[in-house]
Amino acid sequence: MELLTIGAFARASRLSAKALRRYDELGLLPPARTDPYTGYRYYTAAQLERARLVAWLRRIGMPLARIGEVCDADASDAADLVRAYWAQVEAETEARRDLATFLIDQLIGKETDMSTAPTLGIRYAALTDAGLVRASNQDTAYAGSRLLAVADGYGSGGTTAGEAAVNALKVLEAAGAKVIRAGDLLNALGDAVDAAHREAAGLQDSGTTLTAMLWTGSQLALVHIGDSRAYVLRDGALFQITHDHTMVQAMIDEGTLTPDEARSHPQRTLLLRALGTEGPPSPDLKLYDAEAGDRYLLCSDGLSTVVPDADVERTLGASTDPDETVRALIALAHEAGAPDNVACVVADVVTL
Ligand code: MN
Repeated sequence: MELLTIGAFARASRLSAKALRRYDELGLLPPARTDPYTGYRYYTAAQLERARLVAWLRRIGMPLARIGEVCDADASDAADLVRAYWAQVEAETEARRDLATFLIDQLIGKETDMSTAPTLGIRYAALTDAGLVRASNQDTAYAGSRLLAVADGYGSGGTTAGEAAVNALKVLEAAGAKVIRAGDLLNALGDAVDAAHREAAGLQDSGTTLTAMLWTGSQLALVHIGDSRAYVLRDGALFQITHDHTMVQAMIDEGTLTPDEARSHPQRTLLLRALGTEGPPSPDLKLYDAEAGDRYLLCSDGLSTVVPDADVERTLGASTDPDETVRALIALAHEAGAPDNVACVVADVVTL
């Protein structure tokens, strides 16, 4: 068996000698032979395949520990591991992209907020309902002059967790324009979510989703974690503006599940992110420029999983006030059997 020096093996594998020494120390790619006197490392040509795989996985940024798992798995498991890693990278990148956009908007907004008097306002309504099957209601819906929020609690302390999440944001609403115009919106939202998370984490086996919008006078700052949703009806068309933090949505994003299959998937309610789970909360944050005529809907999955988008769009498009609209939406959930609690908030952006 011909042995290659570390220099020759490095050239053939496109890894540096320094990297090869490190991978040896980590047990990731031990040389075929190490000279006991000189300490020189020697490799076989058969080790090139593994070395090249390591090099490619490094190029996509995979941590060394995970590279070891991929190298030791059989081909199909290895493919799954790479796929799962990449889905995670994309999800994290998406969250960071949203955060970057939010920060840019926030920094631009700072200069104009003080000088322009608000010309837009919101009209709103909130309603929640236990539905036709559940004995209790763990959904929370709230709408006020600056805050729109829904939370869908789960576990024995679910109701408390959901209410705590919404209450944490009500503190911001009470602080009013002063906080928001100081350009501290992002920090304020982050602090509120952290507080809600700590409270939910203190409840045994319980947690909550949170989808909320804070009205700044011209913009809506969205904070979102879990599988409750926000939509906007603009020019008669309905757009979902949140992304579900569920396992089935991650599989749809990965291309391993169709939206149709997701609807009947046995684990369709499994959340990947929520308040009250282990680790720090990682909500999505976005800032939306409001336009007169926009109609926003926040709802729990008790509406979105049983009422088709087309019916939601038609109901929101009817020229009824927010109060009537939330009642009509909950009536639609009832017609569909209302197997889960339902929470709806509707807000219209109007010219003052
Ligand atoms: Mn629910």
